[in-house]
Formats: sequence, C-alpha cells, structure tokens
Amino acid sequence: MDATKLVVLREIGYQIPAHCGICQHADLSADGWGYCNRHSYVHQKHSEASSRLSIHRQGSCQQHVLDEGALAALGLHGFAEFVRSRLSETP
Ligand code: SF4
Repeated sequence: MDATKLVVLREIGYQIPAHCGICQHADLSADGWGYCNRHSYVHQKHSEASSRLSIHRQGSCQQHVLDEGALAALGLHGFAEFVRSRLSETP
C-alpha cells in the first residue's frame, strides 16, 4: 500500500467494522445468512429446547471473535489492520 495513504488512513482512524462474516462463531451460507454458534434462544414454535440464533454476515455483536482465516479470505491486504474486533480488544 502507498505509504502516505496508509498514514492518512491511520490518522483519520479508519475502521472496517467487525462482523459475523469474520467471526469464529459464525456458520454462514454463501447467501450471507446462517447461524451463530455462540448464541441461542428459546423458540416459541418448535419443540426443541433452544435454537441457534439466525444471523446475517454483515451483523455483529459484543461477543465477536475475529476469525483470521475468514479475514484473510476477504482479500483486504493492507486494509486488514483496520478491522476492529471489539471482544478481541477487551482486556
Ligand atoms: S458476531 Fe456475535 S452474533 Fe455474529 S457470529 Fe459472532 S458471536 Fe455470533
């Protein structure tokens, strides 16, 4: 990446928000919809005790955990440093 471009991106606090598409807990289909393996809920219609939470690739939550493999697959190259995973940064 151009060195001066990188400086500006850092100066302005550029960020690519963390999202389900790059979370270790996500189980997504090619259409972007899928399930979260971290969260579940009690379904009111079905007999199962709980159901995995339906999610979309572009959503996120406080329990996001960065999936480095999924991040690499996005092809962000030098922009990868601007992805922020909130939970990963929580002490
Ligand atoms: S960001 Fe949250 S909702 Fe999305 S897959 Fe990760 S843990 Fe589940």
